Amino acid sequence: MQLYDVYSLYPIEPVRGEGSYVFTADGERYLDFYGGHAVISVGHAHPHYVKLISEQVARLGFYSNSVENPLQQELADKLGRLSGLDDYSLFLVSSGAEANENALKLASFRTGRRRVIAFRGGFHGRTSAAVNATDNEGIKAPINRNYPVTFLELNDLDALARELKKGDVAAVIIEGIQGIGGIHIPEKDYLEALPGLCHANGTLLILDEVQSGYGRSGKFFAFQHCDVRPDIVTVAKGMGNGFPIGGVLIAPEIPAQKGQLGTTFGGSHLACAAGIAVLDIMENEDLIGNADRQGEYLRHALEETGLFTNVRGQGLMIGLDMDEPIGELRKRLLFEHRVFTGSAKDPNTIRLLPPLNVTREACEVVIDAFQEALVAGGQSGKNH
Ligand code: PMP
Repeated sequence: MQLYDVYSLYPIEPVRGEGSYVFTADGERYLDFYGGHAVISVGHAHPHYVKLISEQVARLGFYSNSVENPLQQELADKLGRLSGLDDYSLFLVSSGAEANENALKLASFRTGRRRVIAFRGGFHGRTSAAVNATDNEGIKAPINRNYPVTFLELNDLDALARELKKGDVAAVIIEGIQGIGGIHIPEKDYLEALPGLCHANGTLLILDEVQSGYGRSGKFFAFQHCDVRPDIVTVAKGMGNGFPIGGVLIAPEIPAQKGQLGTTFGGSHLACAAGIAVLDIMENEDLIGNADRQGEYLRHALEETGLFTNVRGQGLMIGLDMDEPIGELRKRLLFEHRVFTGSAKDPNTIRLLPPLNVTREACEVVIDAFQEALVAGGQSGKNH
């Protein structure tokens, strides 16, 4: 059987990882400033993570959600304590798209409405409801256009107020920081106005923290840089450090009703072990603090180079703009400097999403790599 050919691949085959690095079979070392697309939170092959997962799979990897599994409550307790959302409830799933799918479904159950407001540049996953709320026509099949979505510009409060007043909106879904859209942070005043505006019109507020959550922004959730209380928060990516696990965090105002939601794999014993290990490490090693400190240093140092037209972000979620496409630069960084970086919707934007335990030394290597790669390519992000 052939693989269904949907991905463009770099000719690199990592076989082993350690911290912020991955290694090929011939021992070549690559610095992972893409974090496997914001998935690697506590670093590759962290010993505590390896230990908890290996011990759990040797005991019991999976049964089903028809029996008691206290690991789910242990995970929920830790998540509540570390995130500060301890009065929310947790529904465990296996991916970011599945988390958003369930969040949208809950909002529609709760309000009895169908319309959703999402944002230009937003990304919420590739499953049916999640992709319909994603601003990318090319990845929607006709079957995905199954409810009306209105895409608004980020930070345009008047437009949002006008749409919500129509009284038919089930949910507003917004990323804490837009990831694939190119690292765009909603304005504080805007984000803080959302709950009041939504609730006045019978609409629920869903914060998609799949990419920006789990410490990446230097707070547990990116929206916690502001004073906001969402109705639903979705998480995945960094939650499992590579193990497929996601979660829907649901405010107490939305009581559970048996039978509305469900999944086979979500919350398995093995998934919970991965999720618990990640939170243990985040807490014991102060990874949120590290994300804040290294992010601050990186953004400042990258800005100092004068190589980019814009440097923005929070914590270890960083966007760099140039005034030309970044494809060649990313290739040079990868093949000549052995640094993985990420792209964004805008072809002129690079995304940096390293593991949350990235060291200062690794940040310095990357800053030098950018400088050398840009000089060697005769490139500068600024008009020259
Ligand atoms: N929401 C956001 C903000 C994302 O960045 C992504 C993945 N890039 C998703 C949802 C979908 O997550 P998954 O690929 O795990 O389904």
